[in-house]
Amino acid sequence: MPARILDGAALARQLRSEVVPRIAAFASARGRPPGLGIVLVGDDAGSEIYVRNKLRSAGETGLRADLERLPASASLDDVLRVVARLNASDVHDAVLVQSPLPDALGPRAEQAVCDAVAPWKDVDGFHPANVGRLVQGRPTLVPCTPLGIIELLERSQVAISGANAVVIGRSDIVGKPVALLLLHRHATVTICHSRTRGLAGIAASADILVAAVGRPGFVTREFVKPGAVVVDVGINRVTSAEMARALLGDGHPRLAELERRGSLVVGDVAPDAAEVAGAITPVPGGVGPLTIAMLLHTTVRAAEQGARTTGD
Ligand code: NAD
Repeated sequence: MPARILDGAALARQLRSEVVPRIAAFASARGRPPGLGIVLVGDDAGSEIYVRNKLRSAGETGLRADLERLPASASLDDVLRVVARLNASDVHDAVLVQSPLPDALGPRAEQAVCDAVAPWKDVDGFHPANVGRLVQGRPTLVPCTPLGIIELLERSQVAISGANAVVIGRSDIVGKPVALLLLHRHATVTICHSRTRGLAGIAASADILVAAVGRPGFVTREFVKPGAVVVDVGINRVTSAEMARALLGDGHPRLAELERRGSLVVGDVAPDAAEVAGAITPVPGGVGPLTIAMLLHTTVRAAEQGARTTGD
């Protein structure tokens, strides 16, 4: 039986419509909409697209979203000054600095910037205070992609409590937070990474398998227990026709897309895994659209919490 498709794009549309009345209620109570400040440093092409999509989605739902753009030549102090201004702003409830920062800012820049965002405005959930609260099982602002994954699983009636969950990838953005969210929902969680031995065998014990590796088609059918729920977080751009054919098979309809556009987005999970899985998230149209939808929710949450803590 073919795997059930967990449609992240449809859920993202629903989540966006759910956030609209909350934005309207906040705006009528406070005389302004919730506000998101996005800091973009340099000219990374991928970041430009992500930021444009975030601004557009925010605008469509009635949020205020402002872009603070800095050149690639900006210093870390320049970036921190903009973050400090947004932290102090009366109209911005949420602040995010688009990753990756230019290499020239140095290896510690990402952490310095995460540390500088006010925890109550930290819509990416990367500040140590928010990471700590997540570890303790009393999260407030949680990274958007993991939050979207949980939302998709829960709304698809996937049983998390008691399930064996295997997360491949241990990044601070996806792997670790999604593992913690699953753990706090009473899954038995194993985190795998680049040094894990016997990875395919461990993955094949999973009722819920989350792949956040960043390697096209890494998870093949051997990794998947029959009937398992597979969450493919990977967003990998493939430009080689040979690689695309090897992944998708000759004559696959998406090969025409590669010819037309010059590249193709594929996940970490190979198509043959869908022959074994019970349910699977597609790429594109699975986890990807949920990230921005959850950003909108978290921005509203930050605004509502900010309003409560300031007593208005
Ligand atoms: P990352 O590079 O920070 O982490 C990758 C992880 O994979 C590491 O922990 C590493 O240990 C593990 N890994 C690498 N090679 C491995 C191997 N051979 N065997 C087992 N584990 C291995 O990446 P990330 O930021 O966590 O992102 C992972 C993927 O998810 C990427 O494709 C990224 O584009 C995508 N992503 C998608 C969204 C979304 O909105 N859907 C958001 C963030 C990241």
